[in-house]
Amino acid sequence: MANSIISVDTKVKVMNECLRLVDVEAVAARNGVSPGAIRYWFNHKLKPTLGEILVNEPPGPKPQPNSTDEAGEAVVESRPPKCEQCGGARIWKNGTYEVINWAWLLTVGWLVGVHHILIQRWRCAQCGHELVSDTQKQQAQARRAWWQQVCRLIGLSRFKLGLSVRRTRLLLAFQYGRTVSVGFIQRQTQSMGQRARAVLARLCLCRQKVARFLLFDETFPRLGKRAYRLGVVICEYGLIRSVRTIRRKAHDIPAQLRAAVDGHYQPRFFLTDLDVTYGKYQEQAGLTSHHLRDVVHLMRQIIRLFDDAVREVTLDVPKGLSHKERKKQRALKRRLLRKRLRPILAVALRAFAPGYESVCVLMLEGVVSQLRDPSLVLQTASIARLAKRLERFIRKHGPAINTLLELAVTEGTPKTTNALESKNGIFKPFSLMAKAFRLETGQNFFAGVALMENFDVKTRGPNKGTSAIQRAGINLDDLGAADFFTAVGSERPQISLLVLTG
Ligand SMILES: [Zn+2]
Repeated sequence: MANSIISVDTKVKVMNECLRLVDVEAVAARNGVSPGAIRYWFNHKLKPTLGEILVNEPPGPKPQPNSTDEAGEAVVESRPPKCEQCGGARIWKNGTYEVINWAWLLTVGWLVGVHHILIQRWRCAQCGHELVSDTQKQQAQARRAWWQQVCRLIGLSRFKLGLSVRRTRLLLAFQYGRTVSVGFIQRQTQSMGQRARAVLARLCLCRQKVARFLLFDETFPRLGKRAYRLGVVICEYGLIRSVRTIRRKAHDIPAQLRAAVDGHYQPRFFLTDLDVTYGKYQEQAGLTSHHLRDVVHLMRQIIRLFDDAVREVTLDVPKGLSHKERKKQRALKRRLLRKRLRPILAVALRAFAPGYESVCVLMLEGVVSQLRDPSLVLQTASIARLAKRLERFIRKHGPAINTLLELAVTEGTPKTTNALESKNGIFKPFSLMAKAFRLETGQNFFAGVALMENFDVKTRGPNKGTSAIQRAGINLDDLGAADFFTAVGSERPQISLLVLTG
């Protein structure tokens, strides 16, 4: 009997038998109401409603009235003529569901934000197959296109504009009226960076113009407490061929050089600043290219030698002079010496100026003999030391200087790593956000920045109208991409205007 269904009539009958008025007078007196009123409530209010109270409610929630907000505009869709699966002609409506209006989001997201539409579901009466309506197809296409476009915007924002994850999110919300998660932006940045790194590694394997130079330098994006550097390899066309975060120089730099030189990129000259370790790293990398030194750094080195000579002046003055007096005397001597050396230094620096390439080393040798001429400079110990150091400098760098300058004249190749230093400059704005990266992810990120730069068509300067990829003559078929976004697998969405407007 436990679970049997009891009819409402039975329930009313049972309750009527049980419910009786007891002690009406006493209760009425205690509560200050009339006994007649109690009888009236009992017979006319309570008893007649028993049937209503005792009836079973249908299970489940109360039916909601159809929503009347913006999403409520039902899409009027024509019934598909027949089932694509079985060819059956009886197609039933099978409820509606709400989706984001992706076509609107993609085109006028800034205006309408996230707007929903109702989609009518159709089902074949014969085989139960759910038919895909045109609206569904359009929305699916628009949805794909929206996400693709969001990914492209993330790439632009992160690798070109240098915006942080949060600012990128702000930019997306401004454009589309819909936010994406911080995690999505981070993952997208990472995967693009990873692909960019693979593309950079592939550059040397593509057919290209002959590049004779490998310019190498390290840049130091401030990466917080973790002191690692960024090794950058470019060629004379300004194409960044490799970026690598460097923690252990002796291991990481040779490894980077080894990886960068391969296939169609076999540079004959290795151009760096004066850091003595680079020659060794080049050897370790197994490169046989000729090691040349950047002219700007050579000039800086000569200036430093002259400065040292002035600073190291000694004083032969009578004993008993006060300390203060000696200081004054030395300052005077330094000033006089600096004045005397100035025209000689000017000659040494002019040797590197355009037009003097063929006589540069000869001029430097002339400077040494001037320094040794007692009629020109007083032969003090510091001057003798300067002449000796300069002579050693010429012996060490003379042949390389001659090669470098000769090439610069005959073939228009670079004399300095200036091009490289300006490339290093592009990484600086990113250093702040790079702090958040671990070593490996940082490397991917900078690869993205480098690849973006390689495809960037300059709008001013000597390389106006070309990108580094073009100048280096990289065969785009070999590379498999003609622009940054295609290279990192984020090409422009293929969607027709009809889909968006129809
Ligand atoms: Zn069917």
